[in-house]
Amino acid sequence: MSAKTRIPRLFQKLDFHFVPVELAKDPDAARRAKITVVVALVLTAACPLFAAVALFVYGQPAIAMVDIVAAGIALSVPFVLRSTRSLTLASSLALGVTVGAISLAAASVEGLTSPALTWLAAVPILASLIGGRRNAVRWALVCGAAVAAMVLLERWLPNREMPVEARRGSAAWNYLLMFAAVSTFAVLYERLNERTALVLAAAREALEKAREQAALSDRLHALGRLAAGVAHQINNPSAFVAGNVRLARDTVAQVRAGVTPSSELREVEAALSDALTGAVRITETVRDLKSLGRAGDERASPIDPAEVMEVSLRIASPQLKSRCSVEKNLQAVRPVWVNESRLGQVFVSLLMNAVDAMPQGRSARENLVRVTLRMHEGRVRAEVADNGVGIAPDALGRIFDPFFTTKPVGKGMGLGLSISRMLVEQLGGSLSVESVLGEGSVFRVELPVTPAVEPVVPAAERDDAPSRRLRILVIDDEPLVGRSLARLLGRRHDVELCTSAVEALARGDLPRFDVVLCDLMMPGMSGVDFYERVVKEWPQLEGRIGFLSGGTFTERVRQHADLFSARLVDKPFEPEKLNALLAALSGSGRDTPQA
Ligand code: ADP
Repeated sequence: MSAKTRIPRLFQKLDFHFVPVELAKDPDAARRAKITVVVALVLTAACPLFAAVALFVYGQPAIAMVDIVAAGIALSVPFVLRSTRSLTLASSLALGVTVGAISLAAASVEGLTSPALTWLAAVPILASLIGGRRNAVRWALVCGAAVAAMVLLERWLPNREMPVEARRGSAAWNYLLMFAAVSTFAVLYERLNERTALVLAAAREALEKAREQAALSDRLHALGRLAAGVAHQINNPSAFVAGNVRLARDTVAQVRAGVTPSSELREVEAALSDALTGAVRITETVRDLKSLGRAGDERASPIDPAEVMEVSLRIASPQLKSRCSVEKNLQAVRPVWVNESRLGQVFVSLLMNAVDAMPQGRSARENLVRVTLRMHEGRVRAEVADNGVGIAPDALGRIFDPFFTTKPVGKGMGLGLSISRMLVEQLGGSLSVESVLGEGSVFRVELPVTPAVEPVVPAAERDDAPSRRLRILVIDDEPLVGRSLARLLGRRHDVELCTSAVEALARGDLPRFDVVLCDLMMPGMSGVDFYERVVKEWPQLEGRIGFLSGGTFTERVRQHADLFSARLVDKPFEPEKLNALLAALSGSGRDTPQA
């Protein structure tokens, strides 16, 4: 067994036999206990040696006896430690015996001039390792007292006049022993430190893991709340979309069969319009969720915030009017560089929260919502203030966290403020709050004003539908999506459908299409792979390919979507955007949107 493995084993045994469990739990106390035990064991071995020298070399039986007693006391130290669990008692015994043994060894040879006395220097050092600075000072005083006692008793000490050779020999041995002891101690101490460092590193790692675990369960908890909220938000509208569409389909079938009069078609129209409302609601929920993962990919332009605030007030007016009175002070401000509907989303969110914050049982006249807009230090400042319930100080720091909500499931998802803050910060602005519990809150949006340069509106956003009839190939693995696109575009264009990129490539007739619209995320070959293959085989088609996205999931697809954002339309499709994209893609190369 090498020294490398032997030393740690020895320490493990020390742990097992002598260090009480209570001390072993604390790495620092365990280290001090181990030093005490090592000191005691060294003394147990050294004292009989001193006794032999005292008896046989210097003929001092009395001192030899005291040395033997000291060895016995030293041997008892580990047992005292284990039984009393008192580190102070055990270490005092060990250090006391050390001072006694060294003083006796010196006294038995040549008193004050004995090199053995220099060993006393080790005592305060050991004391500091065991019990810190104060302990070191205490034991330095004890050592000083031992030296003083020796000065007082000098005349009674034996063998004061030793031959020079003997003194030299004794000094040499003492110094050699001292060097050996110091280096052994250094090695042991380093090992102890290494082990302590390992224990600390392991503890830190365990702590880190526990922290990660806590964060994960926090996320899972949040996800659970989100799932409940989303399920509720989507369930209701999807139920009446399905119900109304079914009703419309059955009624149309009955009208066509002549069973029902065609006047019933009015009913169909109403059902379809309800279904559309439901579909829009689902779209909005999905859009909110998508913007949480990836906001800011929509185009911005110079917008008058006052106009956006007016529109937001109109959108929120059913809720606002039924529960509150609104005070408006919208001053003329400079335009801001934003995406209009996103800024509207922020304002509507703040207005709805203000309505929700109003306590039950107060009249609309008492519930005040104050909306202001003005310039402040070169920035546009919009404020939505309410005299509602206010926000508790401990919740104030969390209201911008995603999924934090105090509203019942279904009513609040806790996304409004987190999305709003993200949107506003992406525009270089800030969203802050001041609130007093029981008195109300003020939410403040600050936005930088628009830079002087006029923006270039990308082709994909121009609302100019292509004038000629186009041949369009739609590739989407979801047949229903393909069919709805075909229905949407089929009146003005010739649309063909494929359910995979492989199927589209296999046709071999891609160049005959004016526009190819390809879903980005598809099983097998993705839209990105398809694009790369087509560009390689038919470079002339490059500018005619557009992309459909229902949310980007892989990093590669996400990067592609960023690069080609100008020729990407999100599902569910907005007809204007789709038309603009078709116009741009079919613009015979001149108007082809570039990535
Ligand atoms: P949600 O409205 O879905 O709960 P938000 O992120 O918009 O999500 O708001 C988070 C929480 O912040 C709310 O549940 C509410 O506790 C608190 N809050 C937001 N606006 C106000 C307000 N004007 N007054 C009091 N509390 C508010």
